Amino acid sequence: MSRCLSDYSIEHVILERGRVAERWRSERWDSLRLLTPNWLTRLPGLAYDGDDPDGFMPASEVVGFLDTYARLIRPPIETLTTVTRVAPAGDGFTVVTSRGDWNARAVVIATGETDMPIVPSSARRLPPHLDQLVPSEYRRPAQVHDGGVLVVGGSSSGVQIADELQQAGRAVTIAVGGHTRVPRTYRGRDILWWLDRAGLLDESADHVQDLKQSRRQPSLQLVGHPDRRSLNLSTLQERGVRVVGRLTGIDGTHVTFADDLVATTVASDAKLALLLSRLDDFARRRGLDPHVGASEPFVPSWQRFRDAPTALDLRTANIRTIVWAVGYRRRYAWLHVPVLDEAGDIRHQGGVAAYPGVYVLGLRFLRRRNSTFIDGIGKDAAALAPRVAAFVRWQARATA
Ligand SMILES: Cc1cc2nc3c(=O)[nH]c(=O)nc-3n(C[C@H](O)[C@H](O)[C@H](O)COP(=O)(O)OP(=O)(O)OC[C@H]3O[C@@H](n4cnc5c(N)ncnc54)[C@H](O)[C@@H]3O)c2cc1C
Repeated sequence: MSRCLSDYSIEHVILERGRVAERWRSERWDSLRLLTPNWLTRLPGLAYDGDDPDGFMPASEVVGFLDTYARLIRPPIETLTTVTRVAPAGDGFTVVTSRGDWNARAVVIATGETDMPIVPSSARRLPPHLDQLVPSEYRRPAQVHDGGVLVVGGSSSGVQIADELQQAGRAVTIAVGGHTRVPRTYRGRDILWWLDRAGLLDESADHVQDLKQSRRQPSLQLVGHPDRRSLNLSTLQERGVRVVGRLTGIDGTHVTFADDLVATTVASDAKLALLLSRLDDFARRRGLDPHVGASEPFVPSWQRFRDAPTALDLRTANIRTIVWAVGYRRRYAWLHVPVLDEAGDIRHQGGVAAYPGVYVLGLRFLRRRNSTFIDGIGKDAAALAPRVAAFVRWQARATA
C-alpha cells in the first residue's frame, strides 16, 4: 500500500509494532515454506526473479524478499511502534502509538488476517499437565513434549504440523472439520498454476454467490515441499496419523469428536471433483491439452474414514500436547471507530470500510479469492490506493 500511495504522491507513514515482515520472522515454524510457488511471490514493482520459480521459499527467504522490497521502495516506516488507539478527531483521525501520536486524514488497517490464533474456550477444561500450542508458537518437533499429539484443525497449518510431528516419530491424531483438499500438482502442473491461469485466484468478491461463506472457507490442504507431494487426510493416514472428526467436547482427559468425518470428506471430495472438471474444461477451451499432462482420474477419499473413533481418553492414548490449528481472529481493541460487526471484524466493501477514511487490506476475500496471498495483497493495494488518494485529496480540499 505504501508503494501504491507513493505512486499517487500521497504523504503517509507505516506504523509497525515489530520489524518489516515481523510475522514471517517470529510467528512461523522453522520448516515452513510458502505453499505458493515462488513465481507467485510478486508485489507491485518486485517479483521473484531467482533461479527456482517453481520452488517454495522458506520463511527466512520471505523475510529476505520483503527486506529487499523495503530497500527498493524505501517506505516511510516507523518500526517498533505499536498503534494503541485510532479514533476520529477533527477532519480525520488521531493515532496514538507507543512512540507518540499522529494525525491522519485516512487510515489503512493492515494488521493481518492471521492476527490471533483461535483457542476455543473449552480448552480451559483440559487438565494442566497437557501442553497447548498454537501454530504461531510452534517451532519444531523437539519443542513438543515426548508422547502423542492431538492436532485440532485440518487446514494448511494443521496438516503441515501433523505431518512434521508424525515424521519426527510422534503418534499424531488430527481432528478435522470442514476442509479443502487439493492436489499439489494436476496434469503435471502445480495446482496454483492452474488456479492462476484459470483466473480463480483473481475471482472477484463481487462474483461469488455467498461472500460470507467464501470468507469462512478453510485454507487449502497444501504444503510447499521440494518433492511436490500432496498433503491431505489420506496421505496423513497412510503415514500412520489417526484422523478423526471435528472436536466436540472436552471433559478432563476425555475428548469427543463428531461422527462427521465421512460427511466432511465427501463434501471436500465433491468440491475437488468439481474443481478438477472446471480445470479440464478450461484446458480444453484454451487449447492447453497438448501442453499439459493427460487428464487424471479423480479418486475419492471418504471410504478411508468410515471407522474414525468418536471418543478418546488422552491419558490412555498417551497424548501430552494439543496443537490448536483452528483458524485465526482479528483484534481491533485499539480501533475506536464504529466499523466492527457483531463478530468483531471490520465491515467493508472491497477494503473500503463502513466509515469515511478507513480502509483495510489483507483480509480473506477482501476483493478477490487470493486477497490474503502476497500476490493478492499487492493487487488489492493497487486497486485501493486510488480510492485512498481520492479521499485524502477531497478531504484536503474540503477543509482548505
Ligand atoms: C502459516 C501461514 C502460512 C502462509 N503461507 C502463505 C503462502 O504460502 N503464500 C502467501 O502468499 N501467503 C501465505 N500466508 C499469508 C501471509 O500471511 C500473507 O500472504 C502476508 O504475509 C500477509 O501480510 P499482511 O501484511 O497483510 O499481514 P501480516 O503479515 O500479518 O502483517 C501484519 C503486521 O501488522 C503488525 N501489527 C499488528 N497489530 C499492530 C498494531 N496494533 N500496531 C502496529 N503494528 C501492528 C504486525 O506486527 C505485522 O507485522 C501464510 C500465512 C500463514 C499464517
